[in-house]
Amino acid sequence: MIGRKRPPTRNQLSVNNDVCRRYGFCVAEAPELFELTPSGGLRYRRVVPPRELENARSAARICPTLAIALAEAESPTRGGRA
Ligand code: SF4
Repeated sequence: MIGRKRPPTRNQLSVNNDVCRRYGFCVAEAPELFELTPSGGLRYRRVVPPRELENARSAARICPTLAIALAEAESPTRGGRA
C-alpha cells in the first residue's frame, strides 16, 4: 500500500527488548505504566491513558538505552489556523 502512515489513534508505548537492560528508570518515572517483575522482566502498558502521557514521555527521555518508543495520538484540532 502506498501513502502516508496513519498517526496512531491512541498513545502507544513499546519497548525494544533487545536493548532494554532492566535498569528500572522507567519504573521510577512512570510506575503506573512500567513494572519490573520478580523474575527480572519488564512489564508495561501498551496503551497510555491521557493522564499518564507526561510520565510516559519522561520515561522515554530518561531511558539510558533509548529502548522506549512512544507513539502519540494526534490531538484533536480545534479548528481555525495557528
Ligand atoms: S529505563 Fe529503559 S533500559 Fe531501563 S528498564 Fe526501562 S526500558 Fe529498560
